[in-house]
Amino acid sequence: MAFDFDMIQRVYDGFGERVEAARQVVGRPLTLSEKILYAHLSAGIPQKAYNRGKDYVDFAPDRVAMQDATAQMALLQFMQAGRPQVAVPSTVHCDHLIQAEVGAAKDLENANNKNREVYDFLASISNKYGIGFWKPGAGIIHQVVLENYAFPGGLMIGTDSHTPNAGGLGMIAIGVGGADACDVMAGLPWELKMPKLIGVKLTGKLSGWASAKDVILRVAGILTVKGGTGCIVEYFGEGADSLSATGKATICNMGAEIGATTSIFAYDDKMADYLRSTERADIAEAANAVRQYLRSDDEVYADPTTYYDQVIEINLSDLEPHINGPYTPDLAWPLSKFAQAVKENGWPEKLDVGLIGSCTNSSYEDLTRAASVAQQAITKNLKTHSEYTVTPGSELVRYTTERDGLLDTFEQIGGVVLANACGPCIGQWARHIDDPNRKNSIITSFNRNFAKRNDGLANTHSFVASPELVTAMAIAGSLTFNPMTDKLTNEAGEEVMLDEPQGIELPVSGFAVEDAGYQAPAEDGSGVQVVVSPTSDRLQLLESFKAWEGTDLNGLKVLIKAKGKCTTDHISMAGPWLKYRGHLDNISNNMLIGAVNYFNEKTNTVKNQLTGEYGEVPAVQRAYKAAGIGSIVVGDENYGEGSSREHAAMEPRFLGVRAILVKSFARIHETNLKKQGMLALTFADPDDYEDIREDDTIDILGLTNFTPNGQLTIRLNHADGTTQEFQVNHTYNETQIEWFKAGSALNLIKQKQNV
Ligand code: SF4
Repeated sequence: MAFDFDMIQRVYDGFGERVEAARQVVGRPLTLSEKILYAHLSAGIPQKAYNRGKDYVDFAPDRVAMQDATAQMALLQFMQAGRPQVAVPSTVHCDHLIQAEVGAAKDLENANNKNREVYDFLASISNKYGIGFWKPGAGIIHQVVLENYAFPGGLMIGTDSHTPNAGGLGMIAIGVGGADACDVMAGLPWELKMPKLIGVKLTGKLSGWASAKDVILRVAGILTVKGGTGCIVEYFGEGADSLSATGKATICNMGAEIGATTSIFAYDDKMADYLRSTERADIAEAANAVRQYLRSDDEVYADPTTYYDQVIEINLSDLEPHINGPYTPDLAWPLSKFAQAVKENGWPEKLDVGLIGSCTNSSYEDLTRAASVAQQAITKNLKTHSEYTVTPGSELVRYTTERDGLLDTFEQIGGVVLANACGPCIGQWARHIDDPNRKNSIITSFNRNFAKRNDGLANTHSFVASPELVTAMAIAGSLTFNPMTDKLTNEAGEEVMLDEPQGIELPVSGFAVEDAGYQAPAEDGSGVQVVVSPTSDRLQLLESFKAWEGTDLNGLKVLIKAKGKCTTDHISMAGPWLKYRGHLDNISNNMLIGAVNYFNEKTNTVKNQLTGEYGEVPAVQRAYKAAGIGSIVVGDENYGEGSSREHAAMEPRFLGVRAILVKSFARIHETNLKKQGMLALTFADPDDYEDIREDDTIDILGLTNFTPNGQLTIRLNHADGTTQEFQVNHTYNETQIEWFKAGSALNLIKQKQNV
């Protein structure tokens, strides 16, 4: 029996009516993505058509998934909403904080010790608010979602970029920031620009060394790391039908590497097989009943160029295995060209480590294919020349593959089985290397290979390939080895070749697990205490931001006039600061430290108008806060671009900045600021940016008549006693003005709960 089956049945019950209504308003046959999106409008039955790539639309996702690093602030914020339970089914997965060093058992024990307070917090808050909790070692978020929660035709968001993995089961699954997750859990609609659509027609059938991974490695080579931006990639064709559900998930997972909003396959028999083998026959039956809605209309498949914004065709029968990299996942090399590329580019030929698994490639099929290669090293008397690690994606897969002898095969060739967690994929890898500055090569079946991603070492050349190819390369110990053409010399001095890998799509004896690592929430969580130590430096309960005082804002100091690019990374840097993402006070010490001060062209050096001295941005702002004085941040074009990071909006709010005034905003950041109760304003005349001086005191006028489409007035009180006024624009609608007045969107929800 599946989790939350009633919710899934409700989605299917209303699906047909909504899709038919969408066909009427759009006035043409629909693609699968359009059907799912129109069936999940927060307003209900579709009343109008939305322009792809232009219109912003409010959706109602079916569920939320969060990994342990991003869940912390999302849930701390959610507590502010005052709800007894989350509004939609939600889960937390402890996978990102486990460091790989010696092997699963010891590494897991170390993680439990090191991250105890974070895990205790996540377990208790999940228990209280009706959230499913997957303990450390239970598995990687996307694999666990695929095995338990994904369903055809659903819409979900997850606080991790590889959430699209669930597209392998026909779900629109989109990676978002913690603020979006918090909103949906709190019952707010979720906004997304109606995506454009890229159709990928797959013909033919995979064979030999080619695998599903090679489809996405090839697509990444065609579309590059930016080619999917703002788009859903929809796969179809007889080649798509021939791929296993987990193979489809691999392709959707790595669609994040081309910047795609998400990727998806239509519901088919392979998905039904996977649902049944993971004990969700009930979902397969329910999906079968609405099967015609869980695929694009026939007209779309007959004439895809009319319905998609771009169409690509790939013949799986001709597809060569690929290796992508180094340093970027879109540098795609067909296997036959790779050895030459290694030599011509001077990449280290010796392969130090081969790593298989991760959320991208740790299905039963993946591991059986890799094990069929590993087994040949044993039977053909070959030595494994590289280090070799295996990361199962979940306890279900780990237990089943151990039972079926696959893990033993890996260990026999020297493989080390790591915890069911992200580990080396996210840089949680205490790598044993003789010289960290040595140029070296590794190859993984993961998805990302940017510099330092896996081990933090700039000289590591990281390549990406299928698990079976990684295994073959690790046996050979050389990047120039091509298992399709090259021989290896075994321990007896004989020349042998590796046979093509053989995979088993689903375990013949079924999946099995003793303890999947799931903790169900309390039926009634009202008595559950959320565990946060008051002395913790990693976690801090939030206090509600103060409501608007009901007057114009007078006497604001200019904290910084940022010059040029100011991304969310300049506003709230990542790197070492990430460990404080659950502690707003501590992480606020990175506020705007990357922004360039217009007045002195320096970063993290601004004038404290109370003392006349220069200091670091967070320290100066804390001085204003201590003195009870508000401040304003001035910025340039596209302020707040980059990844959606709620901390970039929360930190200034927390430290007492009242308004952000810029030439233009990146839309997501502008919305995040509004949600936190900040004023997000733009110059009506961008030239007014030049008039703001370092020691100005600023008034914001017109707030008592703050209305949609109206303007506000800025008065600059210069230090020489002169004043100057100009108009500024805003994009607040009625609800967003209510957020501002209440002090934040969550404050408003809380007020409404208490009515
Ligand atoms: S295994 Fe890698 S890609 Fe997957 S969720 Fe973890 S860090 Fe992200």
